Amino acid sequence: MRPDLRQFLLRLCFAAATVTALLGLARPAAAARVKVVTTIQTLRVLVDEVGGPHVLAVALVGEHVDPHRLDPRPSYAVTLSTADLLIHVGLELEKSWLPPLVAQARNPRIRTGAAGNLDASTAGIAIKTDGPATRASGDIHPLGNPHYWLTPDHALRIAHAIAARLAAIDPAHAADYQRRASDLTARVTARRAAWTEIARPLAGAGVVSYHRSWSYLTEWLGLVEVGAIEPKPGVPPDPRHLAELVRTAKARGARLVLVESYFPRNTAQRIAELGGMRLVVLPSDASATTRSYVELVDQQLGLLAGAR
Ligand SMILES: [Zn+2]
Repeated sequence: MRPDLRQFLLRLCFAAATVTALLGLARPAAAARVKVVTTIQTLRVLVDEVGGPHVLAVALVGEHVDPHRLDPRPSYAVTLSTADLLIHVGLELEKSWLPPLVAQARNPRIRTGAAGNLDASTAGIAIKTDGPATRASGDIHPLGNPHYWLTPDHALRIAHAIAARLAAIDPAHAADYQRRASDLTARVTARRAAWTEIARPLAGAGVVSYHRSWSYLTEWLGLVEVGAIEPKPGVPPDPRHLAELVRTAKARGARLVLVESYFPRNTAQRIAELGGMRLVVLPSDASATTRSYVELVDQQLGLLAGAR
């Protein structure tokens, strides 16, 4: 064999071996990412912020979908079957659709009580209740109001709970998860003064909600929830309730009607007109393209401030 040909073949073999080695390194690294499935998008955003390059996170609840009443696709059980960690809102928000999916997935890692099952409502959240409630009466918040993720304090508690759970599942990156949760705390803390300033003109304003999705947000911002279009969470309104609601809203000088982007707007629009209020359509969850919790709060406060 000619020397230059032999050298060429040797180089080719070396190049092939290098590519193989690189592929060999890349495959375990990709496989080692913690697979996280969340129900709502906001939890997915928090996982991405805390987990960074060590996680692969997907959310099941799409945009403008009522998280109480998701209609699951068969692929969701397949997604759950390979998950290392399932994170859900709890307080029965997902009661109608998540337990059957977890059963279908046949994945012991994410069953209730396993390390791979995190109920975010256990992260030290101060749960609001609207008095005695039962599902028998049609109320879909029997364990308290589950829409707690829309305040920074709660989001940060959830983020730290996520960091702790990721560290338990993936101890090699425990310090990184903790650092990332602390970095998120710093970003949110740095934005608080601006949020307070944006919300200042709204302080004390009366609001009517469609569903009780905004109770935590309004309390944080100093707004006053004077009533809801649904007489109980999940129960559709009747004319008598709506007439009483308009009277109350007028008497208390309410300024805004807040409606979730997944509810029909005609009733909310009518109540706003009758009560002399502005209608605000707010997303109650992050979207599939939301990249940070700060971005979500910025969006919500921007919509609220724009409507006053
Ligand atoms: Zn609800």
